[in-house]
Amino acid sequence: MPESLIKQNVLNLSAYKVNDFQCKAKLDANESPFGFDISPEALNLVKTNKYPDPEARELRAILSKMWCVSPENILHGNGSDELIYYCIMATGGPVLYPTPTFVMYGIIAESLSEATLPIALNEDFELDTDAIIRAIHEKNPRILFISSPNNPTGNAFAVENIHRIIKESKGLVVVDEAYQPFSEKPSFVPFIGDYDNLVVMKTLSKIGFAALRLGFVIGREDIISEINKLRLPYNVNSLSQTIAIDLLTKKQNELSKNIQTIISERIRLMERLNEFNAFRVYPSDSNFFLIKPLHMKGVDLYGKLLEMGVAVKSFGAVVQTLNDCLRVTVGTQEENTFFLNCIENILNTERTT
Ligand code: PMP
Repeated sequence: MPESLIKQNVLNLSAYKVNDFQCKAKLDANESPFGFDISPEALNLVKTNKYPDPEARELRAILSKMWCVSPENILHGNGSDELIYYCIMATGGPVLYPTPTFVMYGIIAESLSEATLPIALNEDFELDTDAIIRAIHEKNPRILFISSPNNPTGNAFAVENIHRIIKESKGLVVVDEAYQPFSEKPSFVPFIGDYDNLVVMKTLSKIGFAALRLGFVIGREDIISEINKLRLPYNVNSLSQTIAIDLLTKKQNELSKNIQTIISERIRLMERLNEFNAFRVYPSDSNFFLIKPLHMKGVDLYGKLLEMGVAVKSFGAVVQTLNDCLRVTVGTQEENTFFLNCIENILNTERTT
């Protein structure tokens, strides 16, 4: 292939690769351990020869009640990944985000040839608000992504820091609340009417619907209707819409119960790991958390766990500040206990050798 065939910024990218481990406990992708059965009645509603509802009206109506906004405040996407594209397409760059954070903000900015402005988090993984505000004044970013709780660090940022950034910014601030259901810190959705540059991004992926690919941006109607101009007509397919409508209508109690179980399992896992005195366990407001082994290399622990049938996410030296950290997704009670047993075995072997 002649190199000139493809734009330079695309040549510079690498394809997004996901490990497909077949293992006993897959704790590497921040998925929910709890899935749902799909009812035959819901499946029968899908007409395979017809296009889906382009506006996803019924689904947006249900979500508008859950989030106490009107359907016009909600834009639907094929996962929030798709909506990150639309947001950056709508504003252009520079694209500011703290780092480390969710990698797709940077990848999508680069794929759209937009400049990126990564600003390092503090040592305790809090936003460096002063540095961000300086960058706002000096570089005038047209869009800022704040994942709170943040992936991969797990913590939700101080609410007042996020408000300060929204107030200072002339660009669109996207507060990405993919993991907010697992946090005690409140959502920013109630503030969408207070600012003219704030939208909130949500996904159903972390609460048991990752297979359906459903993400949403919530914001003032004038902002949403502009971003909506970029949306591909039938971006959310009929199966996803129909199954989500059915489950969100019938399974609210189970959804809440699953979230509570994940939170209590997160607490159990983190407490037990702390008792080993062999890890730094970072605080988490998410369905995952970071650990750093104190007496062995993160990649070595990662490899040993994988051999025993547990997949976690290793950052190796790819992200400097996360050097040696492992990200562990909270699984089912059985998976978590299996993970803890594997950790105990590894530590016992290390101590006796
Ligand atoms: N935002 C954050 C912070 C995430 O971690 C993820 C998924 N890893 C997403 C957005 C994307 O979610 P979706 O499955 O809706 O595309």
